Amino acid sequence: MGIQRRTEKTPVRSALLFLSLLLTLAGFTTEKKHQIDSGPPATAKTIIFMVPDGMGLADVTAARIFKNGLEGANLSLETLSNIGYQRTYSADSSVTDSAAAASAWANGDKFRNGEISCHDNDKDGKCEPTPGPTILETAKAKGKSTGLVVTSSVTHATPAAFGAHVPSRDCEREIARQLVQVTGVDVILGGGLNHFISNAINADPCDTFGNFIAAAEHNGYEVVYTKKELNNAVAKSSKKILGLFTPKGKTPELFRINPKEKYRQKEPTLPQMTAAALKTLEKDTDGFFLLVEGSQIDWANHHNDVAYQVAETLAFDAAVQVVLNWIAERPSRSQHTLVIIAPDHETGGFAIDDTGGKYQPGDLVHGAWTTRKHTAGDVPIWSQGPGSEYLGRAVDNTDVYRVMRHVLK
Ligand SMILES: [Zn+2]
Repeated sequence: MGIQRRTEKTPVRSALLFLSLLLTLAGFTTEKKHQIDSGPPATAKTIIFMVPDGMGLADVTAARIFKNGLEGANLSLETLSNIGYQRTYSADSSVTDSAAAASAWANGDKFRNGEISCHDNDKDGKCEPTPGPTILETAKAKGKSTGLVVTSSVTHATPAAFGAHVPSRDCEREIARQLVQVTGVDVILGGGLNHFISNAINADPCDTFGNFIAAAEHNGYEVVYTKKELNNAVAKSSKKILGLFTPKGKTPELFRINPKEKYRQKEPTLPQMTAAALKTLEKDTDGFFLLVEGSQIDWANHHNDVAYQVAETLAFDAAVQVVLNWIAERPSRSQHTLVIIAPDHETGGFAIDDTGGKYQPGDLVHGAWTTRKHTAGDVPIWSQGPGSEYLGRAVDNTDVYRVMRHVLK
């Protein structure tokens, strides 16, 4: 009914349509879509794709005010050379979810909400046609190492879309199985231990259950559960590491501020996991594909919680700085590494209210949300390195795949 009413021909709508037709005839049309595929042969040996899930531009403002004040320095993510924005709609909705958005990045195609790099149009639980390789799988086929580093379960929608193909994001045991048994992603760090050990009673909607910790060990992974074990595995140059630090999502940054909090000691932070992944993946002379996700910025916005949001955004930004420091270590890295920072969608319709006066560093802004769900607005995209010049403009989320695929050597 709602949709019916919105598409009714009102006088205002007719006038707007007529105006847009006039403007089109007068040549005020948008620039022709940039031809990514015919561009110059920029090549990237390594791609580092960083996702602040559910982060809108006002979240960046809020985090920057808290850290540096209104007049202070930019956040690390703001220092990348190319800035544009992306359309995020999915195959069946104006408002995407993380599954469809990440699948669009990973495959260059629109998917329906809930689908993980798998088209299941007739809803029979099968991927048809047979899914092609994701950008991570293509990197692997080219001999590169691969990594997924997140603060959600490692089987959550965003990492899943790069390393698995399932009709529903809820098939988290099947995703666990595919990550370690089929795709064999080299470094997998985050939460989600619960999805790796299951029995028939808690099989997922794909009817998958089993012990995928044992499967991972059988397939050559060193499985670690604490920060100390992770550091040991990195120190002894383990090639494949599965780190599962919590039963489900990782502990929010906000709860780690208390130094007595046990997770602060036991769990690596997002920047620490990112550093560990880089130290392991950099050993591959062919380069690597690494996804790093600040998964809980989205959750904070679902909760309409500004303190949670700012803490997660700043932790994500610290992970960005780890990546930028790693690149700065060697000139060849800046030449051959494409870095992309892109939210999958905005969550909450977050805005910063006018409360009078000026915020000071350390202030939490007064925020207001329009919803507890995702929104349809375009989201920013920051990038640097080979191919990034194509992303410093208005793009669709599927274009991001095309740029990565075009430059990946
Ligand atoms: Zn969400």
